[in-house]
Amino acid sequence: MYEGKAKILYETDDPDLLRQVFKDAATAFDGIKKGTIRNKGIVNNRISVRLFTLLREHGIDSHFVRQLADNAMLVRRVAIVPVEVVVRNISTGSLCRRYGLAEGRTFAEPIVELYYKNDELHDPLMNDDHVLALQLASRAEIARMKTEARRINVILQEFFDARGIRLVDFKLEFGRYHGELLLADEISPDTCRFWEKENNRRLDKDRFRHDLGDVEQTYQEMLQRITEQS
Ligand code: C5P
Repeated sequence: MYEGKAKILYETDDPDLLRQVFKDAATAFDGIKKGTIRNKGIVNNRISVRLFTLLREHGIDSHFVRQLADNAMLVRRVAIVPVEVVVRNISTGSLCRRYGLAEGRTFAEPIVELYYKNDELHDPLMNDDHVLALQLASRAEIARMKTEARRINVILQEFFDARGIRLVDFKLEFGRYHGELLLADEISPDTCRFWEKENNRRLDKDRFRHDLGDVEQTYQEMLQRITEQS
């Protein structure tokens, strides 16, 4: 039905359900850097299964239905809202470049940002008024996405903290499903930044983005650390 940079969606016998398959292909910097991270599809699927399940246990529903294979999950067929919601607890990445900030500053309050999900325009930062003017989401949907993103941040921060990991920042996507707004896409080392608490060792896609080495091993390590104490 649809092939993106990191996943493929296939139709199923049920028009409300899709098979979401995770790919090993990796891209960075707007698709300029391309590569493969061996077994990333399996790692990201299994991590997303664990984290969507964790969130459901805390009352946050999502498109996730159940795991289908090592690299595939059954999801509800949502219409993705073209707004990416980014939550930041510690300064790094595009935030440091945009505002001239040093890396590694912990914010007193998390920052929630909205970006236009549009590859041609390179996913520009937006505020609520832009989202409304472009009719990407309603006022109620924006409020819901931001509130949910903050709640998810609290749940995930606690989960990763117990595993010796700092949740630095992450990106969420939401979709519409029979009039309801649902968390969608994936939650994985491709869409989050994780730093080792002790020494700030990068445990996410920054290893691929910035050629830090041990990319496949680090994805495997994250899978183990996330699933072993379940
Ligand atoms: O690059 P930037 O610092 O804005 O990324 C913030 C967070 O959002 C990071 O965790 C990154 O992995 C994630 N992100 C993403 N997809 C994008 C942009 C950012 O998963 N298109």
